Amino acid sequence: MTIGKKYLYGPVPSRRLGRSLGVDIVPVKVCTLDCIYCQIGRTTKKTIERAAYVPVEPIISEISDAISKNLEADYITLAGSGEPTLNSQLGIIIEKIKKITKIPVAIVTNGTLFYMPDVRAECAMADVVLPSLDAGDDETFQRINRPYPDINIEKLISGLCDFRKEYKGQIWLEVFLIESINSRPEQIAKINTAIKRIRPDKVQLNTAVRPTAEEYVRKLDAAKLNDIAAQIGTNCEVIADFSQRQTSENKYKQALKQDKKIAETLFSMLKRRPCSLDDICSSMNLHGNEAIKYISSLIEQGRIQSENVDGTIYFKPL
Ligand code: SF4
Repeated sequence: MTIGKKYLYGPVPSRRLGRSLGVDIVPVKVCTLDCIYCQIGRTTKKTIERAAYVPVEPIISEISDAISKNLEADYITLAGSGEPTLNSQLGIIIEKIKKITKIPVAIVTNGTLFYMPDVRAECAMADVVLPSLDAGDDETFQRINRPYPDINIEKLISGLCDFRKEYKGQIWLEVFLIESINSRPEQIAKINTAIKRIRPDKVQLNTAVRPTAEEYVRKLDAAKLNDIAAQIGTNCEVIADFSQRQTSENKYKQALKQDKKIAETLFSMLKRRPCSLDDICSSMNLHGNEAIKYISSLIEQGRIQSENVDGTIYFKPL
């Protein structure tokens, strides 16, 4: 089942979370960072100000509606088109979700606001927290993540360390690696030192297999990623989707079949004219994150390419 709603997207097959029902709790692109690899494009509102960016009730009503229609999801994932911890209603949203379903709640966050005790307490209500860490030194952090001026790498790492001390649930730390930007041995050594301080349950390595906000971003090859994963240790895995790997899970296969159909419709549309992410979302009634999945699979198949025009990414057939 794919749900086309204002705040929900999916459930989408997610390598990290199985079938994940995405919940978008901040508007496009309100974020504390402006990562050079962001799939959604450049940040339009860079802030650390928490606010009720999206109202609680419509979100909960969409989730209740999905549950009443036999929602099958492994996780309800708070994420979306910006940084979810910027929503000051985060704790209330999780509390209300937990009252209506037993499906575990995950948060995908860049972790930059974990220096705030309120943010840590609210995130601690979730079952899994998936923060990011792409650098172990401030120079690399500034270059790759382009943070709001108040944020620096030590603030980010210390916030994550404090969270680890307070939180008994799972922390799966994502590290996004880019060729010639944060992949030199001395940079990896610093990231590794930070990981040892943070003590996440898992470390998941990703790279630029999807279109990025900046054209110069280059993916790291699979062999290098595997080599870095081995250096980090046994709790580290590569999650970058280099191939169309098969899984034995039937429901996941069905979801992939449905995805293929939608990807073909998208390809036919792009053959007629190049489109931006916004064009694709409005023409096909898809959420941005969902559209990115279909775009990525067409890029991986070598059928379409992206072109960055002044920060807006357009897609067209090869
Ligand atoms: S990748 Fe995530 S943290 Fe980075 S700019 Fe995009 S939405 Fe913000």
